[in-house]
Amino acid sequence: MRRLFENLSIALCGLVTSLLVAVADVAIARMTSIDIFTFFVWLVVPVGALMTGLVAASGYYFGALYFHKRPTLALLLQMVVIAGVTQWLIYWLGYATSVLDDGRKIADLVSFRDYLDVILTKAHYRVGHAQADTGEVGTFGYWIAALQFAGFLVGGFFIYAFLRNKPVCAPCDKYLRRLAKRTKKFADAEAANGYYERLFTLPVEGPDFAALIRSDATLPKATKGAVHIDTSLLGCPQCKRQTIEEKVKAHNGGEWKDAPHLRRLVNLSDTVDLLPVFRS
Ligand SMILES: [Zn+2]
Repeated sequence: MRRLFENLSIALCGLVTSLLVAVADVAIARMTSIDIFTFFVWLVVPVGALMTGLVAASGYYFGALYFHKRPTLALLLQMVVIAGVTQWLIYWLGYATSVLDDGRKIADLVSFRDYLDVILTKAHYRVGHAQADTGEVGTFGYWIAALQFAGFLVGGFFIYAFLRNKPVCAPCDKYLRRLAKRTKKFADAEAANGYYERLFTLPVEGPDFAALIRSDATLPKATKGAVHIDTSLLGCPQCKRQTIEEKVKAHNGGEWKDAPHLRRLVNLSDTVDLLPVFRS
């Protein structure tokens, strides 16, 4: 029962932020005549829907953290339904608040269904740097709406995936909190391996492990092939057991790129406290 309540609470948090986003989107559209939700890049990437989807899904994120729940498949389904409701609400609020120049309300003149058909099929989009007008999009407008729905969902899936990847303490079913972090940068993979390959060959409570964690490794300037390692000490808020998480990035000459296959999580035994090692 408690689990069900917590799961529903997370969906509810997402529902609240989604409704707020729908209201904000229509309010902004009324004030500025810019509807963020319908922004497109190259007519195929629904950035506006993606962004609004991300903001709408922030409720799931904070809800999941607050209730310490990993998102479940059930939540994913609820997210799809809530995304549909939100998009419908954006259209409906647009319908309910539309007023013609002569002061007559659209809602008094046409049904919601007819209104929806008009705004979807008679919409114009501007394409490319020249902002060329597409003309009326016609029935293609329904495909555009579907694409916006997908974009809105992707924003939510992004949050879902992010939450799924957050490390948890399995016995307590709690998200781990970061207690301390150390960052090291190495000129190349060989130098990085001197640290990365060696670290967990050492006994974690011994002086060599502590010295290696504390050792400074910085680079004046990152060049191609440089390696960046973030070492975080995470702790379970309930049982206090600690975990070390390492995330690796490699420099490709232009920027740092995540190397997710080198990410590692190492659970420490429950008597070990490495906070003094990380802090000093
Ligand atoms: Zn725990």
